[in-house]
Amino acid sequence: MPNYTTDLSFNFNNPTKIVFGIGAINDIGPEVDGLNKKRAVIITDEGLAATGIIDRIKELLGKRCVGIFSEVKPDTGVYIIDRGVKYAKGLDADILISVGGGSSIDTAKAMAILLTEGGRLEDYQGWQILKRPLIPHIAVPTTAGTGSEVTYVAVVKEHDRGIKLVFGDNHLIPNTAILDPELTINLPPDITASTGMDALSHAIESMHSLQRQPMTDGLALQAIRMIFNYLSVCVENGKDIAARGQMQIAATMAGIAFSNAQLGIVHAMAHAVGARFGVPHGVANAILLPYGMEYNMDICGDEYAMIAEAAGIDIHKKTKREAAEMAVFAVKRLTEEIGLPTRLRDVNVTKDGFAACAENAMADPSIVYNPRTPSGTEDILKLLEKAW
Ligand code: NAD
Repeated sequence: MPNYTTDLSFNFNNPTKIVFGIGAINDIGPEVDGLNKKRAVIITDEGLAATGIIDRIKELLGKRCVGIFSEVKPDTGVYIIDRGVKYAKGLDADILISVGGGSSIDTAKAMAILLTEGGRLEDYQGWQILKRPLIPHIAVPTTAGTGSEVTYVAVVKEHDRGIKLVFGDNHLIPNTAILDPELTINLPPDITASTGMDALSHAIESMHSLQRQPMTDGLALQAIRMIFNYLSVCVENGKDIAARGQMQIAATMAGIAFSNAQLGIVHAMAHAVGARFGVPHGVANAILLPYGMEYNMDICGDEYAMIAEAAGIDIHKKTKREAAEMAVFAVKRLTEEIGLPTRLRDVNVTKDGFAACAENAMADPSIVYNPRTPSGTEDILKLLEKAW
């Protein structure tokens, strides 16, 4: 157990109302009423719009739904936010309901900034810039991964520069998250796997972040336990609704953990690689996670031993170092077991982009919280080489 020192102090923020259960989506109308709003716009992507989920939510909302914006693309984009804002303004929307994965939820968060404050999205990039509450937002996640339904972060791709803009502000945290496992049962195995590894990377990075504390550790360790128990079950049999529910809860818990503890070098690299090469966020995290852990190993032996235990490994007769190494091994084994690629070269990443990726990773806000400070781009380049 790591020693917390007497100078431990922290803020813990989790304002989102979480509504969980099979059929929880039936509460969507009353949740809008509870926020005293009448003109909801649904934010989603084309794929989901075709699944029947959106029709059902539209029907449940009845007259409260004034429009559906279904132009979200993976990783969203500044131009998508601009289009969504124009659409929602034209309908005089007074609440946003995001339905989908992190791309749809983050689109609604970024739209909320501009619908409330106006101006250019790029100008709000950074940390705790917003001064007042935004237009309300109910998030309905249909992947179990990003945790965006409870986080203070939005990530939006800027296509011209091939980078991800990161926004961090408590005003971005959704008012309500509706977690209904039924909405995730048709998530294909590959996206189930990659989004689940995104959740695992949130939990593990929360455990090695400089800003970790006992409350975030509690959430992260329980999320790790649940992910090691249920992710492969969901990949194997997507219709296992109990396992789907456990993964949704785990992803949300990991989201609360990292929204308070912050992340580290794995996300800094994953954002850079994802934006440049179009690697899905969860896949980039899954590939880079063991290398980020190895990089931090000398400092985080205690934490990684706790992770090994949460992953179901008997560490009883192991040294701390052995246990920590077993945690890294467990992450690699899970990635393979659920059929995800384990190398950057497997996902069309080419070495000619490494220099730019290393620069962008060093400029990513997540790097600040990594327990080991990289000497410069050289450390990142070495890790990318290893992961290639
Ligand atoms: P996504 O939102 O891009 O969705 C991936 C695909 O899954 C889409 O094609 C979508 O149509 C499909 N899909 C979603 N739910 C489905 C369902 N139930 N059935 C069938 N298909 C379904 O993927 P994601 O991994 O959830 O989100 C990734 C984005 O989230 C990235 O932009 C990443 O940077 C961001 N992110 C944000 C945070 C945060 O805290 N704000 C944290 C992590 C990641």
